[in-house]
Amino acid sequence: MKSRAEHIAYRLLETHPGGSLCDVALFEFDSTIYYSIHPKEHPHEPFSAVVNLIQGVYESYPESARKMLRCRLFTTASLTPMCKGMIKVAAKRATDEVVAQPSGPELLLSMVEVRSTKKPKSLDRSHQEPTLDDQGWMRLAYSLIQSAPEKIGPRFLRDRPVGAILVSPENKLLFASINDNASNKTCHAEVNLVQGFFRATGKPLPRNSRVYTTLKCCKMCAAMIWQGAVDPGAIQVFYGENDPGPFAQDTILSKEKIEVLISPL
Ligand SMILES: [Zn+2]
Repeated sequence: MKSRAEHIAYRLLETHPGGSLCDVALFEFDSTIYYSIHPKEHPHEPFSAVVNLIQGVYESYPESARKMLRCRLFTTASLTPMCKGMIKVAAKRATDEVVAQPSGPELLLSMVEVRSTKKPKSLDRSHQEPTLDDQGWMRLAYSLIQSAPEKIGPRFLRDRPVGAILVSPENKLLFASINDNASNKTCHAEVNLVQGFFRATGKPLPRNSRVYTTLKCCKMCAAMIWQGAVDPGAIQVFYGENDPGPFAQDTILSKEKIEVLISPL
C-alpha cells in the first residue's frame, strides 16, 4: 500500500494550490480516499496533516470514525510526538515520510477532503479577577468541571470530566477548557486548551506560561503542549491527580520533568 499511497499523495498535492509547500495525510476506506492537506507553516502550531485528518474524521463521521481510523494512515510528513500521541489515543497506525511519486496507473477512487473546523472557545471566566497562587489556579481548574453541564447517556459513561487552564507569566488567566471526548476521542481538555488558544490568538503557548490540569496529561496532551509551546522547556504543567493508566506513563512532560503534582486543597 505504501507505493499506492505515494502515488495518491502525488495526485493530491499536484492538484492542490501551493501543494509543494504542504503535507498530506490520507487513508483508504471502503474504496474512498479520505485526506487532509496542511501547509508547513508554523513550527509551534498544534496542528498537522495527521492531526487534522484524525480530528476531521471524528467531526465529520462521528458514528463511524473509530472504524474508519482502524485503517493505516499515510503521511508525507515525519510523525512528531504530537502525531504519534494522537494516533495512539484516537487512531491505530501510520506510515510517515511517504514520498509523493508520479508513477502509477490512473486512480479510479473517490477522494474526500476532511478538515477540522472545530473552534474550541475559552470558557467564560471573565467574572473572575484572579491573581492566584498555584493551588488557587488548580482550584479554578476544578471549578470548571464542577460547573460544567452534566452529560447523560451511554456515550458519556467513561467521559471523565477534566478541566485545564492556561496562565500567563504575568499570572493572568489566558484560556480555559474542559474535555469533550465522548464523540471525538481527541478532544481532551489540554488539546482543547492548546488548539483553542492557538486558534484564538494565532500564537503558541507563551514562554514561561503555566498549564493547570485536573488530571495528569496523557501522551497525546503532553506532546501537544510540548509542540504548541514557543519554548517547551520553559513551560510548567501542574496536575491535580495522577492517572495510573498506560497512556499517561512516560510522556514527554514526565521525561522532561516539567510537570508537577499539586493538591488543590
Ligand atoms: Zn489527554
